[in-house]
Amino acid sequence: MSTTINRQDPRFEIARRTHNGRFPAPDQIVKQVEYCQDAEDVAATLQKVLDAGMRPTARSSGHCYEDFIVNNPNGAIIDISQLNHVTTGRNGAPPYSVGPGAMLGDIYGRFYRLADKIIPGGTCYTVTAGGHISGGGYGVLARRYGLTVDYVSAVDIVTVDRNGKAVAIKADKNNHPDLLRALRGGQGSNFGIITSFYFDELPDCPREAVHANVSWDWNTMTPEKFVDIMTTYGKYWVDNDNKKETWGLFAMLGLTSDRINIGIQYTGFDGTANDVSVATDFLDRFQKCKPSSEAPASYNPHMQPNRPGGGGQRERIPGDTVCYGEHPMLKQSWIDANVGNQGGSGLILGPPRRAKYKSCYMKKAFTEVEAMAFYKMMTGPDTKGLIVAIDSYGGAVNNPERVHDTSIPQRTSVMKMQYQTYWQDPAEDAYRLKGIRDTYTAAYSTPVADQAHLGVPYPNDHYDGCYINYPDVDMLQHDCWPQLYYGTGELYPFLQSVKRKYDPHNIFHHSMSIQT
Ligand SMILES: Cc1cc2nc3c(=O)[nH]c(=O)nc-3n(C[C@H](O)[C@H](O)[C@H](O)COP(=O)(O)OP(=O)(O)OC[C@H]3O[C@@H](n4cnc5c(N)ncnc54)[C@H](O)[C@@H]3O)c2cc1C
Repeated sequence: MSTTINRQDPRFEIARRTHNGRFPAPDQIVKQVEYCQDAEDVAATLQKVLDAGMRPTARSSGHCYEDFIVNNPNGAIIDISQLNHVTTGRNGAPPYSVGPGAMLGDIYGRFYRLADKIIPGGTCYTVTAGGHISGGGYGVLARRYGLTVDYVSAVDIVTVDRNGKAVAIKADKNNHPDLLRALRGGQGSNFGIITSFYFDELPDCPREAVHANVSWDWNTMTPEKFVDIMTTYGKYWVDNDNKKETWGLFAMLGLTSDRINIGIQYTGFDGTANDVSVATDFLDRFQKCKPSSEAPASYNPHMQPNRPGGGGQRERIPGDTVCYGEHPMLKQSWIDANVGNQGGSGLILGPPRRAKYKSCYMKKAFTEVEAMAFYKMMTGPDTKGLIVAIDSYGGAVNNPERVHDTSIPQRTSVMKMQYQTYWQDPAEDAYRLKGIRDTYTAAYSTPVADQAHLGVPYPNDHYDGCYINYPDVDMLQHDCWPQLYYGTGELYPFLQSVKRKYDPHNIFHHSMSIQT
């Protein structure tokens, strides 16, 4: 049976947390937290919670950007962080399986050791499979290998049936294929509590990676140079979306109040870093913009403070500094570069930071007008602490067939943007929220935005909405919010039908859950 932590328990204050310190409001706090040990425990605990008349919310790690888990007045958090297995068949053969509480860093390390395989997931060690994979899951290998959901072959989940009974279901291509598709990107929090993901096949873990950076200070930046950087960056991903030899290149263009930085990680299509000409060709395109200061090669975009999960949480692993043309690069084994020495207890210790996030998929390069909108916002008075991270995307993700058997419809985008801001003092809430909201609104109010939906990246030939794993409740003020996340096609009605079928009482709901 689960371990119950109620309000009288001295562990409650830590047990009830998630990573975003903005939540919950005092009147939204749960009554108890239930730590489960295995799938049977999850089913029994879910039933116990329902029978007690409480609302259950599922937590694997608590990295959720919004309040979906902790805003549950007098309800119960069902914590599945202990369901953290990472297994393979004998001698590293398929099938591969991970528990929802398995941290990405542990998944990478364990699949590497046991099978020399990888899932193309995210960059933060402590994000867990439960929310991450069910919502899509992308990272530095997305252009090379696609999304993590593209590899999910089956899911174990506990749902609640019409009679209010907790039911364990295995969804695969033969049984409950509709639920399988929904859990491949539709976000698990809509349907039940996932207890395992399975993969029939996984890609090989690359051998090596190189990192490099080009960087600029704002005090030497001009509008012309900024526009050149933004448009050059975007055009590269458009021009190279179909060129497989470039798919091992990942980049993040980071705009912060301190600097403008392009950090890359590159591994060749063969998984080695023997030939880095793709990486040097990409970096050379920015020499004309005269980087004012070259960040050290060891400045890894995935460890830098402006990266979620970055900021020194991970101990740096040494590598060899090599120089190719104008560019010093850090060469490491891929697994060292992407996993490092970090671990985690799964507990959210210390007062969590306050944070707000937004997102956008981009199908085209930035126009000059768009770039200028960012220039004005980033050099204005209201964006202290704002981070705009523009990740390369597309390549293997843009496989049109995956539109039909996953719930990620964004399969023609070449960049994925994330807006982030972090602070500690509640007194800064209004200022921080205004800065990120105003920047976002300005970015999607240019002539390339859908003129009937100004202020948001409504799907058109330039934008493709937002990422459900970066949920943003500000979008709820737009009637079109489901289309922003799930597209304008058949997917949202499909997800509504799956929701009606597998969660007929809408037990698994939050402010951005699928509406029926
Ligand atoms: C520091 C940081 C770095 C990130 N980096 C990346 C990245 O590189 N790439 C990327 O794609 N995303 C990234 N994300 C976003 C991340 O994918 C989402 O926040 C994801 O939903 C987190 O899942 P979780 O299980 O870790 O978190 P949780 O907070 O536990 O869960 C998030 C949501 O999923 C639901 N959920 C969790 N477990 C289950 C389950 N077992 N069954 C059903 N529903 C469940 C929760 O109820 C909640 O609604 C990052 C987030 C953070 C905070």
